[in-house]
Amino acid sequence: MSAYSHILLAVDFSTNSDAIAERALAISKMASARISLVHVVEFVQMDLSNELVVPQELELDQELVTLAEKRLKELGEKYGIPESECFVSQGSTKREILRIAQAHGVDLIVVGSHGREGIQLLLGSTANAVLHGAPCDVLAVRVRD
Ligand code: AMP
Repeated sequence: MSAYSHILLAVDFSTNSDAIAERALAISKMASARISLVHVVEFVQMDLSNELVVPQELELDQELVTLAEKRLKELGEKYGIPESECFVSQGSTKREILRIAQAHGVDLIVVGSHGREGIQLLLGSTANAVLHGAPCDVLAVRVRD
């Protein structure tokens, strides 16, 4: 089996991020693989009335993106990952992780997993959603809250 060549680590800035990153970094070292980071800023606009989005909301979105870029760059520095490999995206977390993986020829996506079951799993597990749509392998690192 060939080794991985490009790993994408999905980061949500939670307290578990370092533990998940450790796994991704260890694999990238073993495989001499390139490693990238991705953080997705979910939209804050509420377009319930189908009207134009008000400027304050657009500004807030931009502020969140700028803040995320800064935090991801800092995390990259901590892990020895260059800024050019730190991707901040806007939209649906699952969709954006998969889009970036596809666009950059990623062959392993690393995400955290809380091991949710039943209704909790249905209501929202990024790991589960990514696993079902991924064009490549997915490593779900078990984390405890
Ligand atoms: P969750 O299912 O939302 O608890 O998230 C599980 C894992 O999905 C996290 O440990 C991250 O690896 C990834 N993830 C969640 N939210 C984001 C996000 N906004 N951007 C990038 N990765 C995320």
